[in-house]
Order: sequence, then C-alpha cells, then structure tokens
Amino acid sequence: MAKCAMGKMRRKGLAIMAVHTVDTVANASSTVNLGPAVALSCRECGERFDLGPIFACALCFGPLEVAYDLPTGDPEALRAQIEAGPDNIWRYAPLLPVPANVAEKPNLNPGFTKLVKADNLARELGVTGGLYVKDDSGNPTHSFKDRVVAIAVEAARAFGFTTLSCSSTGNLAGAVGAAAARAGFRSCVFIPHDLEQGKVVMAAVYGGELVGIEGNYDDVNRFCSELIGDPLGEGWGFVNVNLRPYYGEGSKTLAYEICEQLGWKLPDQIVIPIASGSQLTKIDKGLQELIKLGLVEDRPYKIFGAQAEGCSPVSTAFKAGHDVVRPQKPNTIAKSLAIGNPADGPYVLDIARRTGGAVEDVNDEQVVDAIKLLARTEGIFAETAGGVTVGVTRKLIENGLLDPALTTVVLNTGDGLKTLDAVAPTTGPTATIRPSLDAFRDAGLAH
Ligand SMILES: *Cc1c(COP(=O)(O)O)cnc(C)c1O
Repeated sequence: MAKCAMGKMRRKGLAIMAVHTVDTVANASSTVNLGPAVALSCRECGERFDLGPIFACALCFGPLEVAYDLPTGDPEALRAQIEAGPDNIWRYAPLLPVPANVAEKPNLNPGFTKLVKADNLARELGVTGGLYVKDDSGNPTHSFKDRVVAIAVEAARAFGFTTLSCSSTGNLAGAVGAAAARAGFRSCVFIPHDLEQGKVVMAAVYGGELVGIEGNYDDVNRFCSELIGDPLGEGWGFVNVNLRPYYGEGSKTLAYEICEQLGWKLPDQIVIPIASGSQLTKIDKGLQELIKLGLVEDRPYKIFGAQAEGCSPVSTAFKAGHDVVRPQKPNTIAKSLAIGNPADGPYVLDIARRTGGAVEDVNDEQVVDAIKLLARTEGIFAETAGGVTVGVTRKLIENGLLDPALTTVVLNTGDGLKTLDAVAPTTGPTATIRPSLDAFRDAGLAH
C-alpha cells in the first residue's frame, strides 16, 4: 500500500501527493491499527483523511493532525489505568496513535522523565508560586526527541516502511538512529554539516547512515521534501515529514506527564522552546485533551515560547503583532532550535495569544548564563535549548509577562553533554596545582 502511494507521489510531486495517497490508502485503512487514532484531519479546514503517510491537506495544503476516538466515560478509571501502566510514554497508549500492545514491541521506551521541583532556581528568579523543571535530558538519547520518534516508529511499522529518515537540527538524528537500531529498521538521516561534535557522534554511533548537508536546517528540510517525491526515497518513512502528524503526537506526552506528576493538575504557566513549533502546539493539544477527558480540572493556563535571538522568527512576529512568521537565516549557538522557517510558527502565535502567554528570545550570552544558572542551582546540565528556555523564563519575569506567584513549569529538552562547546570557553578548573597540600593552601580554596 505504502509503496503504491509513494509511486504516485513520485509522479505527481509533493503538492498533489495527499490526494492520491488518500485514494490508495482508503482500502487498506481498516488494516492500519494505530489504536484510538481514526483519521487525519486538516488543521485549517477540518477535512478528514484516512490514516496514511501523508501530511498536507489535499484541499487546502494545511497541516494534517491525528484525530481520535478517545476513551469516554469514567475519568477515575482512566486515571487508574494510566497509573498502573509502565514508567514510560506507553502508559498513555490509550491517548496515542499506537496499537494497544505497543509496549511489547522493541523500542526505546522513552518518557516519564523527572519533574524536578526547582526551589533553588525559584529563589534566584523570585518565583514564589512553585517552579518545576521537566527534565527531558533523561530520555534514552538525551533529548525530548525520543518521544516523537517512538510514535513515528509505530506509524512506520503500520505503513510498511523499511527505512527511517529525518531532517534534523541534531537531536532528532540521534533519536532516529537509536530507535531504528532497536526496532530493526535501516536508517539514513540528514543534518546540517556544521553541527556540534556531540550531536554528530550521537547521530552516527548507532550504525545508520548519517549525511551532512552543506547548508542550514532549512536547506536540509527542503532537500528531504524533494527526496520524498523521488524514487530515491521510495519506502522511506521521514519521521518529521511524511510521518509528521504521528511524530507530533509524541509531544503530547509531555503535557500528560507534567499534569500527572503535579497530581493530575494543570500548571498555570509552561515555558517551551521553539524550533519548528511542533512541540509547543502538541503540548497544548495534550492539555486540551486532558481537560476534555475530565482527567484535570478545566482552568486557564498560559503557554510561553522561547527562542534564541539569532533565530527568533516566531518571537519577532509575536512582538510585532503579526500573524505571519517571516523566515530568518539562523545564527545562534542554540543549534537544536535553529529553524529559520518554522512550520508550526503561526499556530504557536495563536496559542501564545489565546492562552495569554508570550514568545520571547534571549541572546547567546544569556543562553550560556542560563545554562550555568540551572546547573549551579539545580544540578541539571542543559543543552543550549534548555539555556534558551531558562533564560527566557528569567526575561519574562523581568518584563512582567510571567507571573512569579503562579505555578510554572520550564522544559529542559536536551543534555548539556551534547553542546559542551557552548560553555567550555567560560568553564574549567578553578586551579591547576602540584599534588601537595602547600600548593592547595596557596591556591586559597580551603574553607
Ligand atoms: C527539536 C528540539 C526542540 C523543539 O522542537 P520543535 O521543532 O519546536 O518541536 C526543543 N529542544 C530540543 C533540544 C530539540 O532538539
């Protein structure tokens, strides 16, 4: 089925792809078992399509997202079922586009990472309402990307793909490589050629193909879109392109976990980093589902987006009051967030405005300061994306947009060991001495 659909895509090109793929997939859709997922629906016009490896609406080219037949009935029973599940994202399988037996399949079982009550950081920032860091550096490949990839892998299995691929700013490449190794797929991933060494090594070590593209992420992404429409890419599941609707759903698990870990309560404010904006929009979707299912009390929450000044298309549009996100050429140490033309940018603007949040940015020096602040106060070593989020949180408090008296969750989406270069120039030994007590005394470090 997937093969036939891909053949048609190839001939007709990307724009027409959705139409033909839906036709082809229609017969097979009854055999696609993705649990409670029943269809794809267009975010713009609401048109529905059968589940398949498609990502754009055939009518209006809007992005597709997964529509569900979600469990109705007793929220108490659903809460109990979730709490009795495994300590990973599969505890939320009834709310995800995955088959019910997903936990028995070979995968990396990401998720259920720590929600750290960050009292020391709260004191430094003047937060009195409770400050938490959702620390996704604890995932199998040390970033939040393991969540989205795990869901995309199930879609890839369902649609019969044999190769997993992606365009990546770094973390996704490693997450795809590892998940493919474990789940028995071939992998071939694409990254900008100038990424941090930690990201490159992580992407390569799992044994799949890794291709550096001479260009920035937006060039890599454009290249992958072309590859999908070409025979060269036949049979390939690009987790963040033709499997993007499924991939995105993995980020909902961050919303589920945060609320469950707060005792089935919504936080008042969440600060989320933005690259393509997928994560932010799907966290909002997850929170809305929890409200609809009666798993949390329906009350207002605010969503804040965080960008680096050197790649801030969404915060620039937010501050200017625009609905359209104008692309930028990225130049920042926060390479995992360096997407100059973010696909979900307009939806991020909607969500920030609808919930009463904001989108803000910080410069590279503030990113480094924030990495050190989080490390010094909470013992959490974040990658540059985490520095962006903590730095933006501080700025939002200073400019009065984030209320320090409310419960606030800040996301750390990656591990500082992958971006050592960001802090290495300003971090190192306090002293280097001969191995003698005299030398140590002379260094003035004894307390
Ligand atoms: C990919 C990534 C993000 C944000 O991803 P979106 O494209 O906005 O969903 C945030 N943090 C890290 C570390 C990432 O790798």
